[in-house]
Amino acid sequence: MSSVNVEMVKCACPDCVCVVSLEKAVKREEKAFCCDECADGHPEHNGCDHAGCTCHG
Ligand SMILES: [Zn+2]
Ligand SMILES: [Zn+2]
Ligand SMILES: [Zn+2]
Repeated sequence: MSSVNVEMVKCACPDCVCVVSLEKAVKREEKAFCCDECADGHPEHNGCDHAGCTCHG
């Protein structure tokens, strides 16, 4: 069992293009998000810090 087997999921925020590993994802209501901003629905309309990602609520 030496192979890397990290399950990658796309952030559940609809506008977010980020992909995160399930281990590191922020989980809210069984959805996986890349960061707290996405998980909270961008209450301050802050984007996540990831390059190329335009999501900001
Ligand atoms: Zn993002
Ligand atoms: Zn995200
Ligand atoms: Zn987002």
